[in-house]
Amino acid sequence: MATGEHPAFLWWNGKQVRWEDATIHVTDLAWSTVGAVFEGIRAYWNEDHQELYVFRLREHLDRLMDSMRLVRLPTTYGVDDLREATLTLLKANESREDTYIRPLAYSSGTSCKRLSESSSNAALLINTNPMPSKLASGESIKVKVSSWTRISDNVMPPRIKNISNYRNGQLASMEARADGYDNAILLSPQAKVSEAPGACVMMVKHGKLITPPTTDGILESITRDAVMTMASESLRLDVVERSIDRTELYLADELFLCGTAFEITPVAEVDRYQVGTGGIGEVTSQLQLLFENVLRGKEDEFASWRTVVGVEAGVAAD
Ligand code: PMP
Repeated sequence: MATGEHPAFLWWNGKQVRWEDATIHVTDLAWSTVGAVFEGIRAYWNEDHQELYVFRLREHLDRLMDSMRLVRLPTTYGVDDLREATLTLLKANESREDTYIRPLAYSSGTSCKRLSESSSNAALLINTNPMPSKLASGESIKVKVSSWTRISDNVMPPRIKNISNYRNGQLASMEARADGYDNAILLSPQAKVSEAPGACVMMVKHGKLITPPTTDGILESITRDAVMTMASESLRLDVVERSIDRTELYLADELFLCGTAFEITPVAEVDRYQVGTGGIGEVTSQLQLLFENVLRGKEDEFASWRTVVGVEAGVAAD
C-alpha cells in the first residue's frame, strides 16, 4: 500500500470494521477534544523472513492502560484483548511494510454531557498506516530551544499520551519551523531540558549517555528505555538519568532524539551551535545500526522486544 492510502480495516470497540464504515456522529465532540488518550506503536517488515515485527507491543498497551487510568477512562478490554486485536488487524490489512499502529481510547456518547462527566466505558479504536523507517537515511536535524515551556505533572501530566498534551509540542514545532529549524526542544518550568515534541532527548558527553529523568516533564518513553538498555548492555556505556541544562546541549559531543516516530534522529545543530563535529556521532551511529537490526529481527539480542506477525498476502478477513 502506498503511503497516504488507507488500510482496508480498523478495529473499533471489539469489531473489525471497514475503514469507510468507521464514522461517528458530528456532535460526539469528546472524540476530538479533551477526552482521549492514545498510543503510537511501530511494526517493521523483514523482506527476507517475510515477517512483520511489532516493537514492544505489550509495553505500549500497558502504557495505554496507564493513560486511561490517569484520565479516568474505564474499559472492559485488557492488554491481551488489545494485543490480539492489533495482530488480527495487521493480518487483515495485509501489512507487509513498515507500519504505524495507533490505538485511541476516548469518552463516547458525550454529545449532551459536560466535559467533566466521564464516560462509563471508553470507546477504543485501533488503526494502522504505512510508515517507512528513516533510521538508515543518514539524515540529521537542526533544532531550537523553544520559547514555549513544557507542560508539567501538576498541569497536564506529560508522562502519559493524553491527546491534549500534544498542543504544547505542536506550538513548539510550529514555531521552530517558522523560524527555519526542523524541530524544537522544550525546557521544563525549572528551565531544565525536558523533551522534543514527540521524542526524548539523549546527549553524549565524555563517553556517557545522558538523558533527563522522567520527573523533568517527559513521556515515559519506550524507545528511551530501549536506547538506554542497548547503550548500557551492548555498547557498555555509562547511562546517566539526570537533569540537563540548556547550555549543555550546545557543548554536547553528540545529541539525538528518540521515540517511536523519530526512531533515533541525530541532531546536528541547536540554536545554530554545531553539535560535536556536525555529522552523525560515533555512539549515535552505533545505536542506529543496532536499533535497525533489533527492529527488523536481524539481531538475536533483545528478541523479546519483538512480536512476530506472519502476514500472508490475500488472507484478509471479511
Ligand atoms: N515524548 C513524547 C511527547 C511523545 O509523544 C513520544 C512518542 N510516543 C515520545 C516522547 C517517545 O516515546 P516512545 O518511545 O514511547 O514512542
